[in-house]
Amino acid sequence: MAPKHHPTPLSGSDRKALTKELGKARAMANILAAQSAEMRAKGEALIQQADKLLCESWNERMWSDGEPIDPSPTIDQAVNGGFPWLEIQCARCKTPSDVDLAAMKHPPTTFVHDLASRLRCRKCAKAG
Ligand SMILES: [Zn+2]
Repeated sequence: MAPKHHPTPLSGSDRKALTKELGKARAMANILAAQSAEMRAKGEALIQQADKLLCESWNERMWSDGEPIDPSPTIDQAVNGGFPWLEIQCARCKTPSDVDLAAMKHPPTTFVHDLASRLRCRKCAKAG
C-alpha cells in the first residue's frame, strides 16, 4: 500500500514544520492501529456469535432429525462458538460418547457431521 503523502520540508528553517508533521504522522499511526484493533475485536466477537448460532441451529436439526446432518459446522466453528464437545454414536456399535473437538487430530476445517459418521468407540477401534 502506498504511504500517504506528507509534505517534507527540506530547508533548515522548516525543521519545525517537519517535526510537527512527523508528530502528527506518529499520532495518526497510533490512532489508526487502535481503530484497527477495535474493529478486529468486534469482528471476532461477531464471528463467534455466528459460529454459536450455527451450532445451535445444527443441534436443533440433529435433535429433530437424528443423523449427523450435512451441512454441519466445522470443528473450529464449533470450538469457537462455544461447543467444544460433540456427542456421537459409535459408527459400529452405536454406543454414545462425547468427544473433545479441541483435542481432535483432524484438520479444524473438517465438518462435524463428517467426523461424527467416522468415529468409533474405543472398544470398536481396538477390534479394528
Ligand atoms: Zn463401538
